[in-house]
Amino acid sequence: MKPLKKTLQHIFIAVALASGSSVSQAETMLDPSRIKMALQTAYHKYKNIKEGANANYIPILAKVDSNIFGITLVTTDGKVYSIGDTTSEVSIQSISKVFTMARVIEESGTKSISDNMGVDATGQAFNSIVAIEQYKGEEMNPMVNPGAITATSMIKGANTDAVWKTIIDTYSDFAGRKLSIDKEVYKSEAETNQRNRALAMLMHAYGRLQGDAIEATDIYTRQCSVSVNTTDLANMAATLANGGTNPVSGKKVVNSDNIDEILAVMATAGLYDDSGQWLYRTGLPAKSGVGGGILAVSPNKFGIAAISPPLDAAGNSIRAQRAITDISNALGGNPYKVIPK
Ligand code: GLN
Repeated sequence: MKPLKKTLQHIFIAVALASGSSVSQAETMLDPSRIKMALQTAYHKYKNIKEGANANYIPILAKVDSNIFGITLVTTDGKVYSIGDTTSEVSIQSISKVFTMARVIEESGTKSISDNMGVDATGQAFNSIVAIEQYKGEEMNPMVNPGAITATSMIKGANTDAVWKTIIDTYSDFAGRKLSIDKEVYKSEAETNQRNRALAMLMHAYGRLQGDAIEATDIYTRQCSVSVNTTDLANMAATLANGGTNPVSGKKVVNSDNIDEILAVMATAGLYDDSGQWLYRTGLPAKSGVGGGILAVSPNKFGIAAISPPLDAAGNSIRAQRAITDISNALGGNPYKVIPK
């Protein structure tokens, strides 16, 4: 923004606030200079942190450059702010679960999720077999692997190709550009996904997953291998923040009526068994992936994403968690924040 325009905007906001007129506190908090400052502060604060380690149970993820660190914020009026490495791509991994769930809800309604896999936190790791056994495939959610593979199996289509096309087109519309699979990640993951196949078979045995469990696991493995940068992820989050319409492309991707349920599941289980701690610190519905990405949604305000491959013990990116927390809190992003009258 030009300096003069910026100054005028500040004066306008100051006058409007003083006179109690229509510029809301939210608009002031999302002033462009404030957003840029919040991004810069968090980026420089966490840039040199070396804690955590890349995921290695999928062999190729261990080889991804641990230094990648970028942040993008997209407001619901379509403004994009970035800092750091926003071009390197990582695999979307578990973040994909949100958008497959969104598509299932679009096709089959919100009840299909609560009926088939549940919407409760499991209190267990994302690939826990005990979590299935405990309640015979109930009382879980679409953010942990058994629920996510079940959600993938619910996507409608005449054959595997049609189902895959629906999934990748949905993700692309959320991101606002054509996304594709990282074939090396897919290969590495497909060779080592025996545990996910076991989870899917168990869900099938309990009558939760219909159809072919191994085929569903393969499509799920493809969806986890989709390659994204921070701008893609922030656009996906901003589409949710904006009620289902991508604020940059203007395309309506999912029905606004279904966003509350999607965000509720993200808030409950988006950062696995650390979801409570995350919500306590930020109040934001969010989703992490073992590729190192995290996206978070501040409803009606912005979507934000960060990528940094080293993870903590729960499988969540350390720098992405810290950066998003600081930035959102600096911008009043927490939807639970009550402003005393
Ligand atoms: N593809 C990974 C898996 O199924 C996704 C897990 C994750 O990102 N937490 O194990």
